[in-house]
Amino acid sequence: MTHMPLSRTTAASGQSIFSRRAQALAMLAPAVLLAACTASVPLPPWTPPAPRPAPSAPAPAVQTLPVAPPAAIAPAPVAQPAPYSAAVAARFPAPSVVYNTPGLQAQRTSFTTQAEIEAWLRDQAASASRSPGVSAAVLPIGRSQRGETLQALVLARATGTDPAALLATGRPTVLLVGQQHGDEPAGSEALLVVARELAQGLLQPVLERINVVIVPRANPDGAASNQRATTGGLDMNRDHLLLNTPEAQALARLMRDYQPTVVADAHEYTAAGRFLEKFGAVQKYDALLQYATTANLPEFLTKAAEEWYRRPLLAALKTQGLSTEWYYTTSTDLADKKVSMGGTRPDTGRNVNGLKNAVSLLIETRGVGLGRLHIQRRVHTQVTALTSVLASTAQRASELGQLRPYIDKEISALACREEAIVESAPTAAQYELVMLDPVSGADKPITVDWDSALALRSIKARPRPCGYWLSAGSSTAAERLRLHGVQVMRLAESGSLLGDSYSETARAAAARQDVRGTIAGSKSIVQVQVGLTRGVVDVPRGSYYVPLNQPLGNLVFAALEPDTQSSFFANQVLDGLQSTVRVIAEPILKLEELP
Ligand SMILES: [Zn+2]
Repeated sequence: MTHMPLSRTTAASGQSIFSRRAQALAMLAPAVLLAACTASVPLPPWTPPAPRPAPSAPAPAVQTLPVAPPAAIAPAPVAQPAPYSAAVAARFPAPSVVYNTPGLQAQRTSFTTQAEIEAWLRDQAASASRSPGVSAAVLPIGRSQRGETLQALVLARATGTDPAALLATGRPTVLLVGQQHGDEPAGSEALLVVARELAQGLLQPVLERINVVIVPRANPDGAASNQRATTGGLDMNRDHLLLNTPEAQALARLMRDYQPTVVADAHEYTAAGRFLEKFGAVQKYDALLQYATTANLPEFLTKAAEEWYRRPLLAALKTQGLSTEWYYTTSTDLADKKVSMGGTRPDTGRNVNGLKNAVSLLIETRGVGLGRLHIQRRVHTQVTALTSVLASTAQRASELGQLRPYIDKEISALACREEAIVESAPTAAQYELVMLDPVSGADKPITVDWDSALALRSIKARPRPCGYWLSAGSSTAAERLRLHGVQVMRLAESGSLLGDSYSETARAAAARQDVRGTIAGSKSIVQVQVGLTRGVVDVPRGSYYVPLNQPLGNLVFAALEPDTQSSFFANQVLDGLQSTVRVIAEPILKLEELP
């Protein structure tokens, strides 16, 4: 089987998205180089921000639909009956470009297999490596619960593909992740296309500005059985703080080692299903987008996500005749008609990667429950969005290079100072969504009760300590924090600390919730209310100290304040409230690095 570069297999109008981008990238070069000369400026430069979109302002509806595909293109086989009428289906014509990954071949009934992904990535690495100056490799980054090897393709103009070689380029690294949810195939197929375009197609020039790491399929076991969760039943995209699954651990290790400046996470959302049951309507938008929206994120990070990424993304999708909205979902409880933006808890990849100071973007195409229906359009939407993320990073490479150290420093400097938000919640609003009539396919505007994640309310705040002491028995927590890239110290001698100890004032066993309902596969959590008692605490040699004056201070805070549903304590990664002390003055103790 031959995999031809996109540029040789597409209709003219499809080819142009890449040619236009290549031209745009070439035009950017002088500006990017000029901006690089100002690297000593401590604050990132910033264009005056446009007003933040109000939660109640709907995105402009796309009025004109893309042209119908050429008659020569055979429709992809549909493995399951369409969940809606032909009139609805007609609202989503195939794009004029045809993508031809193994799983997208016209005669196929199954998506690209794990073995085909590995072979495809190896082909791309081999092709890319033939370009002078480019290093490319397929790296095993872990194993799934069923023992499948998780693969990452690394592409960079660097002396190698190890983290040090990429960091030495001084260029920002972009991490693209697909199919954390096994029943959302468009992301992984699109990432195979993006990998090929980077290796031997029209995206090659971006490697002069950025490094790229691609994990096309983060949950191969779920993909093999067309299920959302991992094979053990856990939703890995609620596991990015706790790291109970090997799949989430693999992504955390990759984040820690390659320190991407930008992460894009490709998903698909339910087009009919419970939306049809609740609202009598089918979902319309080709892409739903959201960046990290969790407490304590640096303002500049959110501004970068909005201005440097989301706005160009909206424009790129619009150019392709693809419609977009903020990401939203609704609970599995059919009586509950509220629609919520993506959650605000620090457990999804989107939010945890934000707490790791990366610009973190969620890209969702309408695909869950559709089988292979509209698959070319879904992949085209993902390819367009992911290409926009790469182009934005290339365009902003210099500013991003300044942004990250600034944010890292800003967060470190907050240790022992000010309050941090322990728990936040979205703001209730009304919002108009455009859905589709399931029979006629006509637009059906519906005003919904809407939880906006763009305006977070603080539910509970607490002064930020200087760090946390952890008991010597807390080795699992210490290991998980280190897997995130957190610096964890060990006490080389016994001593004492001034700190706040937690005491339990109320307790309940509860199920972990997200905006959809109970999180799949999660054990019951221990939900407590706590009081704080200040005092001198004797601490033994061999116990741990986690300072907050480090770039991942906000992530540490999210993991170790015990009275939230996402915390290490609530999820029994820590065995009791007495295992943690909030240290409120810099400890004068002999500390050692862990080996
Ligand atoms: Zn998903």
